[in-house]
Amino acid sequence: MNDCVFCRIVAGTAPATKVFEDDAVCAFLDIRPITRGHTLVVPKQHATELDDLDPDLGAQVFRTGHRLARALRRGGLASDGANLVLNDGTAAFQTVGHVHLHVVPRRHGDKLSFAKGFLLRRPHDTESTAAAIRAGLTALARAEGAQG
Ligand SMILES: [Zn+2]
Repeated sequence: MNDCVFCRIVAGTAPATKVFEDDAVCAFLDIRPITRGHTLVVPKQHATELDDLDPDLGAQVFRTGHRLARALRRGGLASDGANLVLNDGTAAFQTVGHVHLHVVPRRHGDKLSFAKGFLLRRPHDTESTAAAIRAGLTALARAEGAQG
């Protein structure tokens, strides 16, 4: 576990800008984002690949990704959509050996910046980005509360 960077992020012993966590999952900004707001959702319990992941925990990971995608439309980033991507195994370009779901915010007409982001993957202003995502989660919770 100690040599897994995502386990260390979950434990708080490696730095990351967390935007959400509960008992089962943790979501934090990708340090090399493709687009601003690119977030990773990981199970807190270590699983290297989908083969090792409890399916119910996998469902919780996706549930969180789904929620983040909705929050990204509502927060300061005001995305128009998102790519939710899970690369399972090194053959599928999984680069960290701890299951993670990418939530990549998208805007209409961003094809070029998205393609460039793949090449550059430069960090954006993490604090304001995280604040924008948290604002989206708050707006989402408020909207759900209003619906009863
Ligand atoms: Zn791990």
